[in-house]
Amino acid sequence: MKSENFYGLISERLKGHLDDICLETPAGEHYSYAQLEAESARYAQLYMQLGLQSGDRVAVQTEKSPSALFAYLGCLRAGLVYLPLNPAYRDLEIEYFLENAEPGLVICSPERLAAVKALATKRRVAHVLTLDASGRGTLHEAARACPAVFSTAAVGGDEVAVILYTSGTTGRPKGAMITHRNLAANALALHKAWGWQPGDVLLHALPIFHIHGLFVACHCAMLNASKILFLPKFDVAAVMRALPQATVFMGVPTYYTRLLAEPAFGSDVCRNMRLFTCGSAPLLPQTFREFHERTGHTILERYGMTETGMNTSNPLDGPRLPGTVGPPLPGVAVRVVDATGNDVANGEVGELLVKGPNVFKGYWRMPEKTVEEFTGNGFFRTGDLARRDDNGYVSIVGRAKDLIISGGLNIYPKEIEGYLDKLEGVKESAVIGVPHPDFGEAVVAVLVARPGNEDLRESDVIAALKPLIASFKVPKRVFVVPELPRNTMGKVQKNLLREKHLGLFAKP
Ligand code: AMP
Repeated sequence: MKSENFYGLISERLKGHLDDICLETPAGEHYSYAQLEAESARYAQLYMQLGLQSGDRVAVQTEKSPSALFAYLGCLRAGLVYLPLNPAYRDLEIEYFLENAEPGLVICSPERLAAVKALATKRRVAHVLTLDASGRGTLHEAARACPAVFSTAAVGGDEVAVILYTSGTTGRPKGAMITHRNLAANALALHKAWGWQPGDVLLHALPIFHIHGLFVACHCAMLNASKILFLPKFDVAAVMRALPQATVFMGVPTYYTRLLAEPAFGSDVCRNMRLFTCGSAPLLPQTFREFHERTGHTILERYGMTETGMNTSNPLDGPRLPGTVGPPLPGVAVRVVDATGNDVANGEVGELLVKGPNVFKGYWRMPEKTVEEFTGNGFFRTGDLARRDDNGYVSIVGRAKDLIISGGLNIYPKEIEGYLDKLEGVKESAVIGVPHPDFGEAVVAVLVARPGNEDLRESDVIAALKPLIASFKVPKRVFVVPELPRNTMGKVQKNLLREKHLGLFAKP
């Protein structure tokens, strides 16, 4: 069997670059690619010493640090399954993951040790080790004592490399099984599509418990043997300081709006930049335009999800269109279908289906769910509503489950949000469906006002929309709030808004 261990591909690409800098932190730490090879080998050795075997899961809930990245690469090298967890998860959530994934090792922050140990004992997890925000802890100490060489395990391309629990807003989180081949296919496609070149330096401010920061960002940079300016988190001042040393930056939309809110942000700090990419949540066309005006750069928006990696991307060369996520990446097939599974015409809205070597293997221990989410001919149902134009560019219109059906008519929140965001005084908006005794659901808008427009009135917003859209789409109620609830990836948590306004139209 030819090994398809994804680390093997990275290692191949590092030949001739081992003395180059791989990671540089604001604290002044530097790691070369030779050190990345050595450190990841130590972690792989340690996992073997602990008795972990190929396919065993390693659950990791830590802050971002170079050691955390090496611990991930060690898992790949040893043929183990890496299971990253958001540091924000609390005990009940962690217990579910331990019960569901049955890891052989849990790595947690020292502050969480007592709580995680108690859960691990209950769930019969053999080992618990710690790693703190500076990359120290019992895991790091034990790895120090291990040899810095390791022969990367031979694994088939179809073997699971990572399980990532999806941030589903309903039901229990599902573990998406991502294979070594999935990782390689997507990383190679993005590396090529985004024109990675010698001398590229990545400014990395994303978390690494999610595909965006771990796969899209780190994998591309490592395949290119590029230097990564590794920030512990997104901090506007730190990003502004590091930008002049970088050529590539990857962000979620909120990173861009926060940069634009800085008066000193402009073309000067971006003078060496080659590429800004954006994803994980929709980028407002006004942010796209404002960014271009201020910096001269056109943000490249792309679209993907945990289960599929990246599916579409605006082009490196060629028009990057605001409000679209570009055409499918090479090797990825997309369809837009109606409720009966038939393809809709270009310009019509339907559910987006995808197929390709980037698409995951299935949900961990949920075979029925896996079958449900794939069509008979192997397309994955993304749950995203989309439309495609005549040039193959895809626009994401909303989540299928966000679709509002009011009086039997379909309303796409994204469309209404587009009109709201253009109104004077509106900074951003979220449109939700709320149970209504007559209509089934009613449209409700939650807005954030632009500074100086906090006195924005519900009646004015409704009056401004009425001439623009059909009356069934006009929100029945409008609320102005200081900010929209968002998760760490910048996604608006509409489920929280829906819960808050659940009883709004209830009959007394
Ligand atoms: P996750 O699995 O947490 O990465 O979430 C994936 C979901 O984020 C997708 O199914 C989309 O709903 C949304 N998403 C990702 N990128 C974009 C984008 N560029 N525009 C709009 N929605 C996006």
